[in-house]
Amino acid sequence: MTNEPIREDLAAIPRYVPGKALPQALKLSSNEVPYGPLPGVPEAIADAAANVHRYPDMGVVRLREELAARLGVDADRIATGTGSVALIGHLLQAIAVPGGEVVYSWRSFEAYPIAATVAGLRSVQVPNTADHRHDVDAMIAAVGPDTRAVIVCSPNNPTGPAVTAEELDRVFGAVPESVLVVIDEAYREFVTDPSLPDGVERYGDRPNAVVFRTFSKAWGLAGLRVGYMLARADVADAVRRCVIPFAVNGPAQAAALAALAAEDEMRRRVALVTSERKRVVMGAREIVPDVPETQANFCWLPLGERAVEFAAHCEARGILVRPFAGDGVRVTVGLPEENDALLEALRDWR
Ligand SMILES: *Cc1c(COP(=O)(O)O)cnc(C)c1O
Repeated sequence: MTNEPIREDLAAIPRYVPGKALPQALKLSSNEVPYGPLPGVPEAIADAAANVHRYPDMGVVRLREELAARLGVDADRIATGTGSVALIGHLLQAIAVPGGEVVYSWRSFEAYPIAATVAGLRSVQVPNTADHRHDVDAMIAAVGPDTRAVIVCSPNNPTGPAVTAEELDRVFGAVPESVLVVIDEAYREFVTDPSLPDGVERYGDRPNAVVFRTFSKAWGLAGLRVGYMLARADVADAVRRCVIPFAVNGPAQAAALAALAAEDEMRRRVALVTSERKRVVMGAREIVPDVPETQANFCWLPLGERAVEFAAHCEARGILVRPFAGDGVRVTVGLPEENDALLEALRDWR
């Protein structure tokens, strides 16, 4: 026992660094979609505002049923939370045992080490390949008797590439059923390569598969905090037990339903983003040749020791990007004129 009131291991948690926000600046730092809320969403929020003196539907029934119908599964296999970030944390809490480990690639989503440590799990980080992809074989090799879950971030934030069906098949084939294979598909809607697997379609019925999706990115609801996951019914139930009661508030539930009703417009916007993505990657490669292929709404500039310097150069020009010191810079694909400004900043840099 320690004499300190706070758990010692929390001091080692790297802090989550939100993408910067400055008024007037072009915000290409948080992987948001630049077009505002989907049509019908503000109205749904305004309607729901009339009831905010009441607790929301704790079971999130309508939204879970709508998601289940779309995914072709029973609603008891869906859990919702205040963003998939929170839900990933709840899943890790639900599976944590003393000495337990969670395997994931690095660099990957910065919430994973935080969620793992808070849950009391040890992180086993497996370096990405030289081309910034998950090293699936090394991840498989890192699975041991204490492994509780393997997290596959596909497309990978912040580097961009997605994991292939053949690679994911290998993961499922190699790990025991007692190890969850967590597929974080926060950027699934932006995937354009038809050969890449849809985690729900291809793996949804595996007993140890857990697929995470979010309303924060393509669906334009980052500010309202709604994410969801699909898993085996008992796994989903365990996660729902860990979620703070009434987590997803009423306006957020209403907004998520309204967003789903505007799916055609979501697809139209995503198509604008993915066509711009091609242009940004090609333009960026003229300056930084080893920009990896990306299936998400951002691209990765592997600038190494110059990452922070480039972010400062952009900020001086009123453009916010997300540097990872010593490693690279993640740049969200925005409106055409925003992307032009970014490419111009790159060309003027060296
Ligand atoms: C943005 C993101 C999420 C989702 O975050 P929310 O909490 O739903 O806003 C999950 N995973 C990854 C990899 C992300 O980049």
